[in-house]
Amino acid sequence: MWVQIPPAAHKNKIKKLIKMENKKFYKKTKISSDPVKIIALGGLEEVGRNMTLFEYNNQILIVDIGLQFPDENMPGIDFIIPNIEYLTSHPEKKILGVIITHAHYDHIGAIPYLIDKLNYPTIYTAPLSRGIILKRQEDFPNLKKLNIEDINPNKTLTLGPFKISPFHLNHNIPDTLGLAINTPHGLVMFTSDFKFDFQPVGDKPADLSHIAILASQGVQLLMSDSTGIENPGHSVSEKTIMDNLDNLFAQAKGRIILATFASLINRLQQAIWLSEKYNRKIIIQGYAMRTNLAIAEKLKYISIKKGTLINWKEASRLDPQKLTILCTGAQGENEATLMKIVNREHKYLRVQKGDTVIFSSSVVPGNELSVQNLKDNLAKQGANIYHYKMVDIHASGHGYQEDLKMMISLTKPRFFIPIHGHLSMLKLHGKLAESLGIPKQNVIVATNGQVIELTKNKITATEKFVPTNYIMVDGLGVGDIKEVVLRARQTLSKDGIFIVIALVDGKTGLLHSNPEIVSQGFVYMKESKELINEVKKLVREVVGRSTSGNTFNESYIRNNLREQIGLFLFKKTQRRPMVLPVVIEI
Ligand SMILES: [Zn+2]
Ligand SMILES: [Zn+2]
Repeated sequence: MWVQIPPAAHKNKIKKLIKMENKKFYKKTKISSDPVKIIALGGLEEVGRNMTLFEYNNQILIVDIGLQFPDENMPGIDFIIPNIEYLTSHPEKKILGVIITHAHYDHIGAIPYLIDKLNYPTIYTAPLSRGIILKRQEDFPNLKKLNIEDINPNKTLTLGPFKISPFHLNHNIPDTLGLAINTPHGLVMFTSDFKFDFQPVGDKPADLSHIAILASQGVQLLMSDSTGIENPGHSVSEKTIMDNLDNLFAQAKGRIILATFASLINRLQQAIWLSEKYNRKIIIQGYAMRTNLAIAEKLKYISIKKGTLINWKEASRLDPQKLTILCTGAQGENEATLMKIVNREHKYLRVQKGDTVIFSSSVVPGNELSVQNLKDNLAKQGANIYHYKMVDIHASGHGYQEDLKMMISLTKPRFFIPIHGHLSMLKLHGKLAESLGIPKQNVIVATNGQVIELTKNKITATEKFVPTNYIMVDGLGVGDIKEVVLRARQTLSKDGIFIVIALVDGKTGLLHSNPEIVSQGFVYMKESKELINEVKKLVREVVGRSTSGNTFNESYIRNNLREQIGLFLFKKTQRRPMVLPVVIEI
């Protein structure tokens, strides 16, 4: 275990410096009895959609602008973004800037959809996050150029009545920042997503001494990540993961196909190092993964030896045991590479006997069935499958109970707000804080939109709420960005709903009978016989195309139907009803 602690003298010097700086800051800042308002526009009732406001005298600091992936009850919806009505309906409020803690989509994903409405405030973030944000912005050519400035743990930033000192934390993407925010009513420590990893891979350990020094001035409020609260013990170190992956690499006789999230930069680095160690060349599949790697390599967050990455032509000349394929799709996502491979739709790649397929990511709740389906199909085609439940080949990026305790003990806050998680998780985290001696009345479990008021002496979860209802984003096809439409639920109900019921023969993969179509609020069925007949024809085609190779995959067929019918109806009617395909295997 290796923790970097600066020599005592050095430490005292930094402490003194911070004290002086703060004195200056508080002297300059006009402090009134107005409270600091803290409002989460998302992230308190879900894992995702993180966006938090810190407000003082009508001046607002924004932390993160993330999105949330929809659950299975929201067909046709690509993702959900925060509701910013509170900001747009109060022109007297001034936005001081946006701080981005790290480059995961639940923290940056809604930037392209909201930055214009917010009038392009300056975004402050670390270099890797900046690179990923800018790259994504290229998909939105109609937007203006972003103002982005670098921040890092060695710099403090003053924005109006807030002085912000970022500190380094571990997560599963480099450049993750926690924030020490000096406000007119005391210091707020905001962790964002984190874990403590004393043996990280391709990253430095979280800077405990920096956190302790920052906290030594007295922490008024700690806001801490609750995502991992349900797990006892200490989060698994990336070093353990590395050792377990090493074993799999050492044993694998054929090709290795490693599927993970495109944003898990640290995991990708591990796979690259291990491939190099075992003389394997690498093929990267998946656009997001390739771009993230390119950005991380350019900024030197990742190292790849020359010649390690190859193309398909070179790969075709290699023995199977000389090849690793890194790809997306460990969640069973329909459009990702792994699904294409399994469905025999991938241009070059088919599963072959002896392949080792490693799922190196946890299953996001709601995806269990699709992942199981995917694994079954891989097994059928002869692959050896390893999933994190069998061996520790995935560490969550989020601290477990012992990490969370450590954060509370390190910062010794007077008040505590658990953030990032469902209500039950926030409550558990609140209880944990109480068990460490924080009085019950000082622990605030709040909901999205609830206005929390902080003053020198107290914290109040008020009865005031700002709007946070879901804003859904519905894109038609990737790359067809002009067609991406932002719509609230109201518009959805305006365009109506279009239900397609398809009975599919699981053995032949063909439609069993004529599909049934039910429409509500979209077209008058009687007057649109021709349109309906065309849709039925389309359903037949899409089902036929989606079941080739005898692999019946309900959600894959459903997704294709939704997409194709949605496109078709829009072309014909210029309207976008909510398309709800129901696929039943008989
Ligand atoms: Zn994250
Ligand atoms: Zn997150």
